Amino acid sequence: MNSQTILTGLFGHPVGHSLSPLMHNRAFAELGINFRYAAFDIEPGQVREAVDAIRALGLRGVNVTIPHKVTVMDYLDEIDAEARAIGAVNTIVNDGGKLIGYNTDGRGYVRSLTEETGVDLSRQSALLLGAGGAARGVGVALLGAGLGSLVITNRTIEKAEQLAEQLQAIHPQANIAVQPMEMMGDALAAATLLVQTTSIGMHPNVEASPVAVEALHERLLVSDLIYNPMNTKLLRDAKEKGARIHHGLGMFIYQGALSFEYWTGQPAPVDAMREAVWDALRSRQQA
Ligand code: NAP
Repeated sequence: MNSQTILTGLFGHPVGHSLSPLMHNRAFAELGINFRYAAFDIEPGQVREAVDAIRALGLRGVNVTIPHKVTVMDYLDEIDAEARAIGAVNTIVNDGGKLIGYNTDGRGYVRSLTEETGVDLSRQSALLLGAGGAARGVGVALLGAGLGSLVITNRTIEKAEQLAEQLQAIHPQANIAVQPMEMMGDALAAATLLVQTTSIGMHPNVEASPVAVEALHERLLVSDLIYNPMNTKLLRDAKEKGARIHHGLGMFIYQGALSFEYWTGQPAPVDAMREAVWDALRSRQQA
């Protein structure tokens, strides 16, 4: 670091376990550019001051994570159309004092899914499990990338209905339906892509799965957004049933890669970023 260093970072609460600083600093080092990335733990009442500090301190931009992705929108100068559709911002770019909000989560997910599995979205019938923030980002991006048919299911059915309505308004041509969770089996039997966006199965509840193993089948591509652990119970069950699987690590890497590209204007060194995250996860598991 020196007097020319360009600063970026993460606003969240808490941020102590985030892998983003490691991933981005590795990427800057890989390209030999004088940028650094720091984690800032921002209390919920301090979001306005934190956003003002981006301008005051001349940060090039920040990522935003839980619980600030929605609140932060009130304090930006401009919000890009996709982030507005998703209703949340995960990336801020400081363009000479003007703060612009983007959302790279959904696009990061689709890039990971299509690059890592080669799936042709236009030919898939998808079942989206969950209707929270991640489901919204992923739903907007999947439909934007050409997915034609989507069924949404969620424990709180009203949230699934609300999400379906919002997605339908953005993509009037798409075939979008809602199913109660109890009837998920029927939707799953007809689906070719299962996108799991709930927190069920996340560490430490690693033996929990939102789907009964009997409902899974070999025509499915099963995608789980969770990456801690990487091999969730759902993915282990899916593999046993002969389905193809896709885990959440790629989404994390690519949402970061897209933010990196906004800040630096250079293609992100995705392989180095993935390696940095893999190494960190492996050493955490050994600890
Ligand atoms: P969120 O907004 O809090 O939504 C949580 C979702 O999980 C809701 O649909 C909720 O249903 C459902 N849920 C939670 N506990 C449940 C339970 N016991 N039974 C049934 N449904 C349950 O959270 P989020 O931000 O969308 O994140 C969701 C997951 O995605 C997390 O595991 C997170 O790690 C993962 N994620 C991964 C990435 C990545 O980069 N790979 C990025 C973002 C998120 P209700 O509506 O009924 O409460």
